[in-house]
Amino acid sequence: MKFSTKAVHVGQEPDKETGAVIPPIFMTSTYKQEAPNEHKGYDYTRAGNPNFTNLESTISALENGKFATVFSSGLGAFTSILASLKNGDKVVAGNDIYGGTYRLLNKVFRNYGVELMSINTSDLSQVRKALSAKPKLILMESPTNPLLRISDIKEIAKIAKEFEVTSILDNTFATPYFQNPLDLGVDIVIHSTTKYIGGHSDVVGGTLITNDPKIDQTVKFNRMSLGLNPSPFDCWILSKGIKTLALRMERHAQNALKVARFLEAHKLVKKVYYPGLASHPQHELAKKQMRGFGGIVSVEFDLDLEKTKKLISGFKIFTLAESLGGVESLVDHPASMTHASIPREERIKGGLNDGLVRFSVGIEDAEDLIDDLVLTINETFGMSS
Ligand code: PLP
Repeated sequence: MKFSTKAVHVGQEPDKETGAVIPPIFMTSTYKQEAPNEHKGYDYTRAGNPNFTNLESTISALENGKFATVFSSGLGAFTSILASLKNGDKVVAGNDIYGGTYRLLNKVFRNYGVELMSINTSDLSQVRKALSAKPKLILMESPTNPLLRISDIKEIAKIAKEFEVTSILDNTFATPYFQNPLDLGVDIVIHSTTKYIGGHSDVVGGTLITNDPKIDQTVKFNRMSLGLNPSPFDCWILSKGIKTLALRMERHAQNALKVARFLEAHKLVKKVYYPGLASHPQHELAKKQMRGFGGIVSVEFDLDLEKTKKLISGFKIFTLAESLGGVESLVDHPASMTHASIPREERIKGGLNDGLVRFSVGIEDAEDLIDDLVLTINETFGMSS
């Protein structure tokens, strides 16, 4: 079965009892037992629910993985694996990962004695050096949020195996439509399903996919023990959203390329970050490991903090909001919004300057999106195009 057929049908078989084409929502906390511990596979929704199972089947099929587990959020998915670390364990993480993932490591798990080593995972010599310090995990994004840096996933997975380190790739930006990291050798794939998987900015959720039964058992045990489970309703909504993932991603990527090309030629722009542009330093690597380049375009405007804030508050179609990956276009200012939890000095060192703006390019008509950019820039700064 090919991608879109799997997205529409796997985990979405018609209901056996009633024939309903769309599986029902199992809004139940508990399940009738015939005798103590004799049940149909579910005993309490914190541990499992048919809507979790349905969504897990679809996601594992799309990521070419044996097992998937769904969570209340992307950070819940990370927590399920980080919670198996012990005092003194080290974690290597990319230095421009999502600010919330950084905060989870640096402000929460650090309190339990977990040591964080931040590196640029697109530099293989830094990866090799960090992994020789025997961390338990290496955690990376490719493309990263928000600088769209690409890491050589296959090579990092190989080095991680050499040092017996578990490798984790956050595949939220690429989605399984454009990239399948398990096929490239990583041990664990994580998604914030809040983003493209759901696709409609109406649910917060997360998932973890692996081929390793031990990891699968651990994260399911941790989901139940820590209460990281999603709601059945949220899973049902995500199961609806995932069906159109291929169509949406095609359009996101087409629009993103048009927006990126337009901005690259604009006089107010210092730099455009989009892996689909020939000017992206890892464009060739991106072409090797991805089937498309996604819908996020980050732009460094030649503006100071105040002027940048003024510009992004004026768009009519790009809504100023956190998050990304929905059908509607959003704009974000990493320095003061999504990545504000990273100390300024560290943020600037990692390339997240005050003039950096992240566009989540939606599926609207590209011409309208470009008009919004042109008109807002002109109105805000009294320029003519
Ligand atoms: N990973 C990436 C790349 C993200 O952008 C985010 C959220 O923005 C997360 C993980 C965290 O996911 P959630 O907000 O669903 O907890």
